[in-house]
Amino acid sequence: AKRQGRNRYAYFAPSMHAGLMEKLDLAEDLRGAIERHELLAHYQPFVDLRDGAIVGAEALVRWPHPEKGLIPPDRFIGLAEETGLILPLGYEVLGAACRAAAGWPGEQRISVNLSPRQVQDPAVTLYVQQTLLHSGLPPHRLTLEITESLLSEDAEVAANRLAELKALGVRLAVDDFGTGYSSLSRLHAFPIDILKIPKPFVDGVAGGQEHSALARAILDLAQALGLQVVAEGIEDAAQARELRRLGCPIGQGFHFSRPVPEAAFATLLAKGSFA
Ligand code: C2E
Ligand code: CA
Ligand code: CA
Repeated sequence: AKRQGRNRYAYFAPSMHAGLMEKLDLAEDLRGAIERHELLAHYQPFVDLRDGAIVGAEALVRWPHPEKGLIPPDRFIGLAEETGLILPLGYEVLGAACRAAAGWPGEQRISVNLSPRQVQDPAVTLYVQQTLLHSGLPPHRLTLEITESLLSEDAEVAANRLAELKALGVRLAVDDFGTGYSSLSRLHAFPIDILKIPKPFVDGVAGGQEHSALARAILDLAQALGLQVVAEGIEDAAQARELRRLGCPIGQGFHFSRPVPEAAFATLLAKGSFA
């Protein structure tokens, strides 16, 4: 049936832009990969910046494509959002991540990215609840990472949905905080637990007062609002040291580890820390 779908597109070929054809092909491949449960999650450790202990991981989707190799999310998340495939894709990743984390030896936390489309899905809360039940993962060990744009578009729906999710006992993090246009004055309207300092802010952090101003602003804001902070994209020891000095408790980045397959992450966990 899938092949037939492809021919259907070919029928319109003369009037279609080649790029669009390629996109439809990729979407069709992606749909198949999701149905066959071929998508993988890789795991990037969250590290306690004070002692190097691994306190959890973020799940990041990877698509092992038969011809194109391991495709990174930047190449297909946008497409998945446009086509609605982000819903089944997102639930695949959530399921895989919760099952993996339920098998870890300690109380480590797992973070899963939720696209705005997923948060707008009225069934999302039920899905998350069912996934927690089936995996046996205690809700407090799951963090859902949402984008800042969600807090400005359709703020009413978002606030209600996030309150519903929060009531399951999971934690909510705002990804790339400070790069979108959410209104600071409305932040308290959302049941947020964690702000993530985006990589571009972390890049400047060891470059002196002026360059670290944005990271420091987020740390100050988080302290004032009683929120936790995670810094992403830490690439060297100087950045890790400076963030720790500024009072940032948790970080992730290539300095510690790239996102790795489930088995490799289990090996990292067995060592326990980067100290
Ligand atoms: P994100 O959520 O901001 O994830 C962090 C990205 O930064 C990841 O890229 C990670 O590999 C990369 N990264 C981490 N540390 C470093 C570092 O030290 N240096 C550099 N240069 N990069 C670092 P990745 O895995 O390619 O994912 C890209 C984006 O795709 C994610 O950004 C997220 O927005 C989206 N994404 C990934 N998995 C999922 C998913 O399951 N669902 C949804 N909705 N989006 C996802
Ligand atoms: Ca994220
Ligand atoms: Ca980011």
